[in-house]
Amino acid sequence: LTARADIEQSMDSSRSPSNDSAFLDDFAMMSTFGATGGGGVDRQAATLEYGRARKWLAGWLAGRGFRVERDRIGNLFGFLELTPGAPYVLIGSHLDSQPRGGRFDGAYGVLAAAHATDRVRNRYQRNGTRAALNIAVVDWFNEEGSRFQPSMMGSAVFTGKLDLENALNTSDAGGISVREAMSAIDELGSNRIGSENVVAAAYVEIHIEQGKTLEKEATDIGLVASTWAANKYEIEVLGAQSHTGATDMEDRQDALYGAALVVAAVRDIADTFPGQLHTSCGQLTVFPNSPNTVAGKVRMHLDLRTSDDPILVEAERNLRQRCAAIELKANVKIDTRRSHSWSANHYQLEGVELARRTAEDLGLRHMEIRTRAGHDSTNMKDLVPTVMLFIPSVGGISHSELEYTADPDLCNGVTMLTELLARIAAGELAGTVSGPRP
Ligand SMILES: [Zn+2]
Repeated sequence: LTARADIEQSMDSSRSPSNDSAFLDDFAMMSTFGATGGGGVDRQAATLEYGRARKWLAGWLAGRGFRVERDRIGNLFGFLELTPGAPYVLIGSHLDSQPRGGRFDGAYGVLAAAHATDRVRNRYQRNGTRAALNIAVVDWFNEEGSRFQPSMMGSAVFTGKLDLENALNTSDAGGISVREAMSAIDELGSNRIGSENVVAAAYVEIHIEQGKTLEKEATDIGLVASTWAANKYEIEVLGAQSHTGATDMEDRQDALYGAALVVAAVRDIADTFPGQLHTSCGQLTVFPNSPNTVAGKVRMHLDLRTSDDPILVEAERNLRQRCAAIELKANVKIDTRRSHSWSANHYQLEGVELARRTAEDLGLRHMEIRTRAGHDSTNMKDLVPTVMLFIPSVGGISHSELEYTADPDLCNGVTMLTELLARIAAGELAGTVSGPRP
């Protein structure tokens, strides 16, 4: 290992006030794309504002000598070749947002990755050593899944969990496909997918916590050790369309009534596992959605998320029983299809340990944490050694214009990410190749 004095010297160069203000200026610029009146952004996947944000990022990367390419699902890469032929450490997050979402979710991680990579490149240029790994900044396509389902789409295609053609043919509520929407903003590339395009050796991602733990514990950095498990469902409640006034109550097959009972039941199920199960219905589409017509059909999205796999099995069993009872009570039929799921599983221990040592050397307060939300790292950790970091979120508010993280926390995160990236590029993460630290 490099001597402590050397580490501190190189760390100092990454942590200067001018580096911090350059990051904050760029972050303010990025937050203008799709900016909402309430301080958030509305930048759903493959929209015009999304395309503008990406082109700004691509320009930023190209201007610093990164080779910018998109693959066939529209993941955007900024390749930095430090050692010709070496595999890559990928580092990034996502620029898409929820409708009227926050400006930090995803976008912070992409910009932090770009700045960290640029700082690491400067270190290598200064000291002339050779990196063990090259670096690629990545903006994963459609992490949020608000416009096109499922979420984490770009990283799922990259890791071979989702078929490319299926993903491209997925349509939004207006019938526009991923292929059409991404072509319209010229964000679909011709590069092959996954390892045919880039040989990945590791993945790193930083994100706001979207929870209150770090804030409550007055901690700078969360070292993500594991994920919660999740099941997501598409549900159709089928009734019969009829007149809201004229139809006898006993003859009604009111799909909206059935859907309302499902919404309430799902909340009841969460209450039977206090603190361990999160449930929600995020979207209802009512047909024909007319004031004087009993709904004939309701489509809804529902999710169950939990800290432990057995609870998920129990919650799903509970959900199916409750739906069967609701079918009788509301005189409707309920079709339940599981559309996306992942288990509670661990990030590689070596990555958590490397991040812990890095935070200690930097004098940053740190703790292990679990992620309740899904992230692109959830997919990538199944492919390569992956390190996920969190910074605090004020009040834990996310998927809202009120999402907020203070500047010092943003800057601490970039400092941490830079040092961690430098160590991984030097080969200090087990399972990757090793070389001298810059
Ligand atoms: Zn996110």
